[in-house]
Formats: sequence, C-alpha cells, structure tokens
Amino acid sequence: MKYSSTRDFSREYTAAETIAAGLAPDGGLFLPRELPKLSSEELRALAPLPYPRRAAKVMKLFLDEFSAAELEQFCDEAYDESRFPGGTAPVVKRGDGLFLELWHGPTCAFKDMALQMLPRLLTASLRKIGQQEDALILTATSGDTGKAALEGFCGVENTKIMVFYPEDGVSRIQQLQMTTQRGSNVMVQAVRGNFDDAQTGVKQILADCTINESILEKKHRFSSANSINWGRLLPQIAYYVSAYLDCVGMSEINFGDELNFCVPTGNFGNILAAYLAKCIGVPIGRLICASNANNVLTDFIRTGRYDRNRPFHTTVSPSMDILISSNLERLLCLLSGDTVKVSAFMEQLSNDGYYNVGERRLEQISELFWADFCDDIETFGTIRNTWNVSNYLLDTHTAVAEAVKRKYLTATSDTRKTVVVSTASPFKFCSSVLEALGEHPQGDGVELIDRLAELTGVTPPPQLVALGNAKERFVGACDKNEMARKALDFLENK
Ligand SMILES: *Cc1c(COP(=O)(O)O)cnc(C)c1O
Repeated sequence: MKYSSTRDFSREYTAAETIAAGLAPDGGLFLPRELPKLSSEELRALAPLPYPRRAAKVMKLFLDEFSAAELEQFCDEAYDESRFPGGTAPVVKRGDGLFLELWHGPTCAFKDMALQMLPRLLTASLRKIGQQEDALILTATSGDTGKAALEGFCGVENTKIMVFYPEDGVSRIQQLQMTTQRGSNVMVQAVRGNFDDAQTGVKQILADCTINESILEKKHRFSSANSINWGRLLPQIAYYVSAYLDCVGMSEINFGDELNFCVPTGNFGNILAAYLAKCIGVPIGRLICASNANNVLTDFIRTGRYDRNRPFHTTVSPSMDILISSNLERLLCLLSGDTVKVSAFMEQLSNDGYYNVGERRLEQISELFWADFCDDIETFGTIRNTWNVSNYLLDTHTAVAEAVKRKYLTATSDTRKTVVVSTASPFKFCSSVLEALGEHPQGDGVELIDRLAELTGVTPPPQLVALGNAKERFVGACDKNEMARKALDFLENK
C-alpha cells in the first residue's frame, strides 16, 4: 500500500516512510492512496478475537510491509491487560447510554490507545527504511498527548522525545503527570501561549530546513507523535471496528445495523479515525462532532466555512481547546481527492485564518457528520445529571460529547444507537468534576483525587494517586520563539 501527502499525489511513500516522517515534506499529511476494504465476512470473523488481535487485523489492512506476526506481537504488548487493567476499549452501558471507554491505559486518556502502539510502529519503520539516525520526536500537547507520548517513548531505543505544552492550558494533574516523567530520553517544556502556539511552533521547527540539517549533523531526524502522524491515527481506527462488534455482542444492534458515534473533538484525529472505519466498511451511521466553546468545527460542519479568527477560550475540557484542527486536512483530501484545492485551503488558512469549501462539499460533509457544542455550564450540568441519574462519572471531555449526543437526539429523529466516545478518566480533571458535583474545591492538585473518590465511591487510577509523591523534574517556561533553541539544547544535553 502506498501513501501520499494531502498536498501532492505525485510522490508516493511506503507505510514505513510515512510513519518515520510523521509530516510530509511539503507540509501536508500522509494518507493511503487507496483505502482497503473489510468485507462483511471479514468483519464478522473478528468478533471472537480479543482486542489486540482485532487491532492487529485492522492495522494489517493498511500496512502490507509489516507481517501479521509482527503486528500481532506489537498489539499483544501494547494492549495487554497489564497496561489496560480496566479493559482495552470496552463498551459499557450506563443508564440509557453506551460509552466506549478508551482511558484505562497508563495515562488515563484515550491517547494511550495510539501512543502505546506508535513507538513500536516507529522503531520498526526506522529499521525497515534503514534510517541510521536516531529519531527526535517533537510533540505539542493540549494536555493528554504529552504524557501519553512520554509514557510510550520513555526508554525506547534510538529515540528521544520532547514535549511542549501551553503553560496555562493544562490541568495541574496533567502538568504533574508530565513534569514528573522519568527516563533519560525525555524532555518536557512549558510554552507561554496556548495549544495552537505550541502546535504551530512544532510544525515550524519540523519544516525548517536549517534546523533539520543541524540535527542531522548530530545524527538525528525529526519525527512526530502528534495525530498528524499516520502511525497514531491508524491504531485508533481499530477501536471503532471493535466497538461495533462489541455492540453486536451486547445485542445492542444486529450485525449490519448502523451505529452512530459521538466524539469529543479537538484536533479532529479521533473522529477522523471513526470516519476511516466507516470508509473501510464498518456499518457506521452519523458521526457526531462535539466541541466545547472553541466551536470552530461546529461552524465548519454547519456552514462549510472554517474560520479560526475568533477568540480562544480556556475551558474545563482543555484537551479540546483548539482552533486549528490539523486532521481536517485529511478529511478534505479524502472527500475531494483534490490536492490542489487542499493546498489552497491550507494556504488560505495560514494566511487569512479561514477558507470556505463550497456548497457541494458542505452537502457531502453534512450527510456524514453532525456537529454541536456546549459551554462549561452545560458540561457541568451533564456531569452532575449523569452522576445523579446513572451513577456514572464522566470527565469533562466525555461530558461535552454526552451533552451534544442529547442535542443530536433531540434535533433529529435518528433512531440508530449512538455510542459516546469516552476519552479520559474523570480523575484527570478532579477540580472541574468536583465543581460539577456541587463542591468548591481549593486548588487543583492531587489532593482532590482523594476527595473525588470519597465523594463518589469510585476508585481512582493508582497511577494518578502516585503523583502525590513524585518529584517534579521539568520546571520553567519559554516563549514560543525559543522552542527551536530549546529542542537543540535538549539534543546537546544542555
Ligand atoms: C485529545 C483529546 C480529545 C480530542 O481528540 P482529537 O483527536 O484531538 O479530536 C478529547 N478528549 C480528550 C480527553 C483528549 O485527550
């Protein structure tokens, strides 16, 4: 299977080259030239398999240079029960709702589903393409990617990882998870600015020829652990396939019935993975895109105009505080197959901050997707209500999706079942969750974990409780124009 950039189909890459590079040289994102198909029989045959084997089969469809045995080994390791003690991507039914719980991994957010796999795919890819240099992974995080990437890459041979996070854009628990990270190949840097500043900074460094040459002299090449890397998106397709089969297994749907997913969305990675699952043949109905007050995607899906010229809101669902949703570029390319248009949209976005896809594309988008958003007050109300009615504790991001799912059901007469994608443990966002439940928490540190546990009787993840005794290694913030310097310092062990 060959891959190309969303901005130029004339050059083709192998899967290993695609994963090793992260971002295409022209600044575009990689996509398979043709999407594989999973027949109805093949889909049904995955049903008896445990999660790791389902995932290996799905990934194999896209990675013909990787052997089935190799992928099975990666998945068995990455998705082992010891790493996901609460279950690897289980679908649970609470009250009248179905939830796909993706946060039982090492860092308690769904990013683990991809970032436990990416290091394995990346080191294998580097070997396959015969790259001599080590990988220097630069990642911008809105909170959850950073820790999941650090955890995934910590101690991995021939790689170094550096994470940039917005100084005031993450919860204290998220920050502690990162600043206490162990390992000699890791670095964490706070940036004065918001997530978009950090992400734009990383993209600029990755695309800068001078910096690339200078790290090459030091025997390194850049790679990315952000969801712009195909090796991060691909593992996410698997859990939509798996969730579909689980809903059949739970007799929530009959095999062949369509199932909707409602996804709390930021960078458009998770929901794009759901769209790709639909493209390869899983009977998926509507994809419901849930945003917080940073509702640039709601407007886009409703009007066809993407406009980032708007105030940036810091919300209680910080991992979705994003105004530039990188993976939308992939959707536009998949829908139009027109790299010239995609390039023009991205150029206009970078120059003017907006673009408009036009009527025809909008029609296509609104058949596939539906979008709405909710503010912090509605998020709190949803956490409180779901706890009171169903005794189920939602984190702030999942609560946004639950609120938007309810809006969808009210606004449409859709009778298909809808699964809410649950992306983080509520204990990652204790302060907000406690506030939603009517408390007035002081501070937002680890002490609140005990309080939330006490109040609800829900057991907190032990790895979060342990943060109380961990020492912070990485302190101090830099300006966004210092990010490149900091990355070079890290490489030189300064
Ligand atoms: C990253 C994240 C999201 C947003 O996912 P995207 O793939 O960026 O759309 C939602 N919820 C949580 C908890 C996250 O960490």
